[in-house]
Amino acid sequence: MAKTLDLVPVGEWGFFTLPRPMVIAGPCSAETEEQVLETARELAARGIHVFRAGIWKPRTHPGSFEGVGTTGLKWLRRVKEETGMKVCTEVASEKHVYECLKYGIDLLWVGARTTANPFLMQEIADALRDTDIPVLVKNPVNPDLDLWIGALERLNQAGVRKLGVIHRGFSTSEPIAYRNAPGWQIAVELRTRYPSLPFFADPSHMGGKREYLLEISQKAMDLGLEGLMIESHCSPDCALSDAKQQLTPPALLTLLESLLIREKDSGDREYREGIDQLRAQIDILDENLLYLLHSRMEVSRKIGAYKRDHNVAILQTGRWDALLSAMKEKGRKYGLSESAIEGIFNAIHDESVRVQNDVLSK
Ligand code: PEP
Ligand code: MN
Repeated sequence: MAKTLDLVPVGEWGFFTLPRPMVIAGPCSAETEEQVLETARELAARGIHVFRAGIWKPRTHPGSFEGVGTTGLKWLRRVKEETGMKVCTEVASEKHVYECLKYGIDLLWVGARTTANPFLMQEIADALRDTDIPVLVKNPVNPDLDLWIGALERLNQAGVRKLGVIHRGFSTSEPIAYRNAPGWQIAVELRTRYPSLPFFADPSHMGGKREYLLEISQKAMDLGLEGLMIESHCSPDCALSDAKQQLTPPALLTLLESLLIREKDSGDREYREGIDQLRAQIDILDENLLYLLHSRMEVSRKIGAYKRDHNVAILQTGRWDALLSAMKEKGRKYGLSESAIEGIFNAIHDESVRVQNDVLSK
């Protein structure tokens, strides 16, 4: 059972203006003082209040641009002084945290590779003790919800109460169009467990290409997430890292203006009555599903007893594989996705095996 998190509501951080989305924008990496200031000015002129830039860059291969280091913090301080924007950067060690605190950085984020490492997370959490700086934690590179939650718990236990998350998708060996697999169900699960945790999506690292940024941002808004972190560069094609996924500030504004922001709820009486009726139908159908599952398990119990009396093993994978394929085929005709059928029927099968084993052990 997950522990609760002690959080300061994002509305009290003094960072973001509502309505949604709360936006963090800026280049993947700080490259030169001119590039940082030019991008910041262009973003500030378009109403962006929170500026991002990576100073220490986690790169897959040595020899790639690994960030300008501490020098870049001075540039961020200038952005703050000149534009009034809040500034944020990624930290991956206690040294990074101390440097950021020294230069008055307003918000920190933890990158996907760091969230996946409990040693580093603890080191960062300890360095943040007795500070008031907000921290956003990206999902770990692998789709492991517990690892993500563990990182949040470490920070929260060290007293970080201005805490939020950024969903940037997961590494995958599958050939997909995006740079990272969205795995939205993991974000939804986290959101369900911690509804008051401010939730950002990072369409840039999820999509990996400019052309996908709008559809991912829209999806994040449709899921009711509060914010977006989007990479923006004054001259994206010349960027030293992640050139293909960065937008110019004007293109970012166009994207933001194209988003359709649906209300999380509506006070409209007709809407409420309509949705209540539909929800009542769902409740009845769910009850029916439970009753059907119960009936199915009763048959499984009988099969278990029958196998036991005839000395037959419980698991017959050949039969199950054939049954699953048949179900997927039938499911398709009902407009149900293969992955949904697979998940649902594998869960039913697991329960059935458990029930049969139960009979055997009696
Ligand atoms: C970044 O935000 O620049 C970054 C390195 O992201 P991630 O940790 O999601 O790869
Ligand atoms: Mn990047």
